[in-house]
Amino acid sequence: MGSLLAVGFDLDYTLWDHGRFAETFFAAVAGEVGGRLGLAPARVEAELRRAWRDLTPGHPRLFDTALARLGSADPALAADLVARYRRHRPPIRPYPGALPLLEALRRKGLRLFLVTDGGAAVQRYKVEALGLASAFDARVFTGDFPALLRKPSPFPFLVACRGLGVPPRRCAFVGDNPETDFEAPRCLGMLAIGVTTGPYAELPPAAGLGPHRRVRDLRDLEDLA
Ligand SMILES: [Mg+2]
Repeated sequence: MGSLLAVGFDLDYTLWDHGRFAETFFAAVAGEVGGRLGLAPARVEAELRRAWRDLTPGHPRLFDTALARLGSADPALAADLVARYRRHRPPIRPYPGALPLLEALRRKGLRLFLVTDGGAAVQRYKVEALGLASAFDARVFTGDFPALLRKPSPFPFLVACRGLGVPPRRCAFVGDNPETDFEAPRCLGMLAIGVTTGPYAELPPAAGLGPHRRVRDLRDLEDLA
């Protein structure tokens, strides 16, 4: 690998605490769901948090699972919660150290890119709300692609590189999720960096290639800049 020309980032749990997004939603709907099920809001909120913790974050069955555990099998209510979750727009901010790192990398002349899974509309909202609208030279929202072309496919990483005109072997990619963020960048020749700010720090390692380097949070990456 020659010297770095570009550094890419995942969004959720890499640049900000995605768990806060879910927690504010659970708090907002707990009273109403509790009212419909005849349960205390605190019990509903606790069960939603437990499902979030037990399942892979962002799991498509999150609301069905939590409602089933609360004794309700109401697909319409689960679907309603999913739809409202996608429209949820709480105030959010990046992790400490995220903006200084991005600014320092840019000052060094490195190009910056984003590769993020998840619903494209909500991911675009998050980028704006986090104040990152002009932070990246290339942004790839894989929700715009068919499922097979999202992470862990190498495709979205190649789209970012092509957008920048930079070969993958001159890039680093920073992410948190061992299922999606390290193997494809490594296979493309990128330097893969894992941050353990999110829930995956406590989960068993995934099969396949891990990151070349692991850091506790973005403030430990000052040497890249
Ligand atoms: Mg992530």
